[in-house]
Amino acid sequence: MISRKLELLAHPERSTVLVVDDDLLNRSIMVDSLQPHYQVIEAESGEQALLLLHRHKPDLVLLDIVMEGISGVEVCRQIKEDPDEEIATIPVLFVTALDDSRQEQLCWEAGGADFIAKPVNVITLQYRVKAHVTLKRQSDVLRRLANLDGLTGLYNRRYFDEQLQRSVRDQANNQQHWSLIMLDVDHFKNYNDRHGHVIGDECLKEVARLMMSSVRRSQDMVARLGGEEFAILLSGTRLDGAERVARSLLNTIRNTAQLSVDNGKGNELNYPFVTVSMGITEILGNGDLAEEDFLKQADEALYQAKGAGRNRICRYAQGLIEEVGDEPV
Ligand SMILES: [Mg+2]
Repeated sequence: MISRKLELLAHPERSTVLVVDDDLLNRSIMVDSLQPHYQVIEAESGEQALLLLHRHKPDLVLLDIVMEGISGVEVCRQIKEDPDEEIATIPVLFVTALDDSRQEQLCWEAGGADFIAKPVNVITLQYRVKAHVTLKRQSDVLRRLANLDGLTGLYNRRYFDEQLQRSVRDQANNQQHWSLIMLDVDHFKNYNDRHGHVIGDECLKEVARLMMSSVRRSQDMVARLGGEEFAILLSGTRLDGAERVARSLLNTIRNTAQLSVDNGKGNELNYPFVTVSMGITEILGNGDLAEEDFLKQADEALYQAKGAGRNRICRYAQGLIEEVGDEPV
């Protein structure tokens, strides 16, 4: 996924620019001059702009200030206050005929990145858009790297905490279902002591890879919480769905008997693979529970799975913890 972002960085023409102006002629001039370089979408009002923004998440917005209905300044303010980081970080370039320092100050205060004067100088428009789109691309890559775990390439603890908080809010506000799986590699300290950290790291990477392949939907998220502890956050999923995912992952890991590692001399060396334990819970409350409560539920279930002999799954449901059996045949 990182390489895809870097690839986009090298090909800014695939970036999307949203042009907002209520004047058709102004809009056409800007659209025509940007179209050869970007994917361009256009809006003739602030209302339409906000709609398209959420649908397309463009890399830059060119924004007229004076429009019927929602003004450009207000549109910019809403972009910058959006709880979705992908929206809030979109740079806004105001396109203005105004020679009014008070108005300009309002634009800066609303979070505008820059200005372009009307009538638009096409060359200046192209260079300024290019500069801001490049900056946007670079900061996207950096932000993304800051969310990832260096060893496994999974999301890291910091990002997981944010997403868990968001899903708890989502469940309380929109009745959207979410489930949480916590996973811990069994006896990993012994494994590390016995085979060394290099092999231990390879083993964690393989666990991460198997976890990633067990969830295929982009709205689900796999994270490394630290050490040998991992988590999966499943969107739109009740407890029974989470059980299916966990059971299938447990079996995949059970069936992976060996870890093959290249010793650097072209030889593959085989090491025993590990087993894992999991605790699962559904995120369910009336806004009365915080993300720590769900982490604690999954953690208690995980603890019980460990206590019962590891290499198994326990689930937390309505205050009770019980083992999840194998699939009935
Ligand atoms: Mg206008």
